[in-house]
Amino acid sequence: MNEWEQDWAIETVGIRVGHERTPQGEHSEPIFATSSFVFRDAAEAAARFAGEDAGNIYSRFTNPTVRAFEQRLAAMEGGEACVATSSGMSAILATCIGLLQQGDHIVSSRSVFGTTTVLFNKYLARFGISTDYAALTDLADWERRIKPETRLLFLETPSNPLIELGDIRALAELAHANDCLLVVDNCFCTPALQRPLELGADIVIHSATKYLDGQGRAIGGAVIGDHKRVGEEVFGVLRTAGPSMSPFAAWIFLKGLETLSLRMQAHSSNALRLAQWLVEQPAVQTVYYPGLTDHPQYDLAVTQQVAPGGVVAFDVQGGRESAWRVIDATRMLSITANLGDTKSTITHPATTTHSRLSPEQRAETGIGEGLLRVAAGLEAFEDICDDLARGLSA
Ligand SMILES: *Cc1c(COP(=O)(O)O)cnc(C)c1O
Repeated sequence: MNEWEQDWAIETVGIRVGHERTPQGEHSEPIFATSSFVFRDAAEAAARFAGEDAGNIYSRFTNPTVRAFEQRLAAMEGGEACVATSSGMSAILATCIGLLQQGDHIVSSRSVFGTTTVLFNKYLARFGISTDYAALTDLADWERRIKPETRLLFLETPSNPLIELGDIRALAELAHANDCLLVVDNCFCTPALQRPLELGADIVIHSATKYLDGQGRAIGGAVIGDHKRVGEEVFGVLRTAGPSMSPFAAWIFLKGLETLSLRMQAHSSNALRLAQWLVEQPAVQTVYYPGLTDHPQYDLAVTQQVAPGGVVAFDVQGGRESAWRVIDATRMLSITANLGDTKSTITHPATTTHSRLSPEQRAETGIGEGLLRVAAGLEAFEDICDDLARGLSA
């Protein structure tokens, strides 16, 4: 980053950082659709391969469009280095392969993306990396599960689908006191609303597929952190194993970052109004949203996040039948488990994202049959409400 860029606000960083204009003088970032790069002569080729010359060799590991995205996102998160990946899941995989070894142990929040749990339990376990799960909001539970072999604490905050918060600063202290790294999946907030590295986290993970894109067009991910761990170790995995981001996807995400702050504020403001409206509906029992003053972690949300975020969950009276009725009465909301789109989405966690849990596990984690999750899009608030009101008044 240039010296003067250090003082820019995140809105400016998201628009201006990362693009090195070519001699063509293009205003918008170009897509470098090339698999390899050519050298002026044999000596330059040798210098590149020897690592003495920093230029490009091959797009599995460096590409100017991908690098522009990496530099912009690193600057927004306040990290030294960023590695872009082909998906959010490969970002988590590359982080674990790059930073852990056989015999190491992970303590993860119990409330993480379902596929992340499968990655830990089914695949990493095969290579001798074990995982235990802690209740996100219970610091003593995290502490109890840390063993001498524990090297990494992993969480998402806010969590899905109940929108609970993990205290990043407290968990970072706990991690460091036990010689562990704190890894935060910042998918729900993005750097526009929450900057985990500033709160003490070591690594930030993204599924760029969600808000970074913001319009549901591409799959991608990223890992952000320091030069050594991310710039060398995680980058080394990418270079060798190759779950790389394509230049075209990088261009989409780069463009997404330009409007990220604006969109996150708008998602959050629609979600807050929606949560306040849901509280007033007789058919709604409980609303889970950290922007409501009676949310158990309202105070933490105020200090840890810039705004409460775009996702709201609520329980309707009458269990699954009523919940499905609300979904089936919608005409506009998209019935999909995805989030982070301009289009509002609605899902029934008990029978979709969390259907793999046993009924007991769901009861334990508070995911009832009447629970619905809405990711507020950018449509007019009144239209989102009207669409939900039909099913709620039925
Ligand atoms: C979607 C998601 C992922 C996985 O990302 P993909 O891009 O689908 O691989 C990881 N974490 C969270 C919180 C997600 O929502």
